[in-house]
Amino acid sequence: MAEKSFQYQASIDFHTHLPLSPIVSFTPEIAKLPDINDFLKALNDAHVTEAVLLCGPKKEAMRDENENLARRVHSLQRRFKLMAWLNPKYDSAADLQDLVKENDFHGLKLHPVFDKYKLSDPIVKPLIEKAIKLEVPIMIHSGWGPEGSVQDIGKLAEEYPDGTFVCCHMKEEYGLNERFSHIEMAAHNTNVYLESSYIPHPRRLAEAVEILGAERILFGSDYPWGAQNIAWEKTKVTAAQISYDDKKKILAENAKELLKL
Ligand SMILES: [Zn+2]
Repeated sequence: MAEKSFQYQASIDFHTHLPLSPIVSFTPEIAKLPDINDFLKALNDAHVTEAVLLCGPKKEAMRDENENLARRVHSLQRRFKLMAWLNPKYDSAADLQDLVKENDFHGLKLHPVFDKYKLSDPIVKPLIEKAIKLEVPIMIHSGWGPEGSVQDIGKLAEEYPDGTFVCCHMKEEYGLNERFSHIEMAAHNTNVYLESSYIPHPRRLAEAVEILGAERILFGSDYPWGAQNIAWEKTKVTAAQISYDDKKKILAENAKELLKL
């Protein structure tokens, strides 16, 4: 396949949201609830055949929101792999177990910045330990505040070597050695995948591949907040100076393996 046709390669977007409840704390521009048809169009325009799908934020127990999302996309389930966004302040390990076992959820998502807790807080442990027991990946938001510290994700991954972690967003941020901190953290923790949304430039992705290899990098858009135009976020992968095989891994193969598809 020619290099330029890569934009048309069927892909898996590892990070999308379909919020169903109003989001009061976001700016009006990004608080708007996306219409499911707009969402499907954005996926189709980007040649995204499957997507990891999460609910929207809620400042309270989140189990219901996850169940509502599962009902909302029930007829489209082949296209979406649901992950349970849970808040350790309100949601229990039993909630995660039910969502995975009864509702076909494929993993856990934690957002310590929006839900305001530190990853080092012991309240996080039951959810992490349950996810490991269920053998599902743990997605964690990074960036935008001290609770989103990339180093804290690294510490958690070190504490739980049997867990499989996905560090969401490759937002520009530097570590102590002035190296891109996401790459530095993942280099030290081989049980961490990096999800690509917010990566500032295709060059940064090529740097990550050079240091880590392509096997632990996943294409993600964080629709609708990262990019309402998913194709634009995908371009940062397709435009990177990396091999054909590496692009295939990042755009679909790694996700398939991780989600056991
Ligand atoms: Zn997210």
